[in-house]
Amino acid sequence: MPELKKEIIPAKYAGFCYGVKRAVETVKKLKAENKGKNVFVLGELIHNTQVINELENLGIKTLYEIPEKGEGICVIRSHGESPQVIEKIKQAGFEIVDLTCPDVKKVQQKAVELAKEDYFLVIVGKSEHPEVIAIKANAQLWSENVVVAASPEQLKEFEQQIKAHKKVGVVVQTTQRISTLNSVMEYLISIAKEVHVANTICSSTSMRQTEAKELAMKSDLVIVAGSKKSANTTHLAEILKDITATIHIENDDELDKYTDLIDKSKRIAITAGASTPQDVIQRVIKKLNERKK
Ligand code: SF4
Repeated sequence: MPELKKEIIPAKYAGFCYGVKRAVETVKKLKAENKGKNVFVLGELIHNTQVINELENLGIKTLYEIPEKGEGICVIRSHGESPQVIEKIKQAGFEIVDLTCPDVKKVQQKAVELAKEDYFLVIVGKSEHPEVIAIKANAQLWSENVVVAASPEQLKEFEQQIKAHKKVGVVVQTTQRISTLNSVMEYLISIAKEVHVANTICSSTSMRQTEAKELAMKSDLVIVAGSKKSANTTHLAEILKDITATIHIENDDELDKYTDLIDKSKRIAITAGASTPQDVIQRVIKKLNERKK
């Protein structure tokens, strides 16, 4: 029987989402138009060292904390910030350019709306993630009843409070897995009388996860490229691991650790997180194609 040819299948929805693309392009444009001014970003603009170095070389600096006094432009990245942090940046003397992704803004607005309407608010997501911290801080301006949980187990801690409250509102971190939302909903419905859910997983994340799942079902191996610090990339790899062999790498150099697995896999799909630049993806594809020969 002739040996099957190896197939390398790149995902269509891989790499920068529109929120990240918008942030990277706008920040570069800002610096080009404000040559004499300092341009800072509060926190790393995206979870990618290569991009951060590229921005540094253009003179765009990352601020890891807000100084007491500063001048120039301070950019709010796509994750968004809390009202308290925004006020602190203003007080320090910076001019603010807010590049919070419009999809993240929608979650903040929905969370505020539910908090104002006296829902006990559950934010489904990771409590330490900057996007979640900002959503929570915005909602807490209106209500004390705001909690974060990444699983039904974490939510159990608040069971008595939830039962005592008449209605529960739910919003979701934009990059969460739909299965996490489903499991939280199943638990909430079992203990609460009224549950209002806003599925705020962003469409870019949903399309990326759906396509990657379909590819994984048809592949022996999926390679997920992107930073291990990136929430959406990590979630993507977690989802795919349940379907087929999956490796999460930050760049093409890491492929060397998996040559046996790569050589024995006939269909290999490649996807990437929202903060992975195209050239990283292209180098992974190139290296895999070289192993085909
Ligand atoms: S992953 Fe979604 S919410 Fe986050 S920046 Fe990209 S488009 Fe916006």
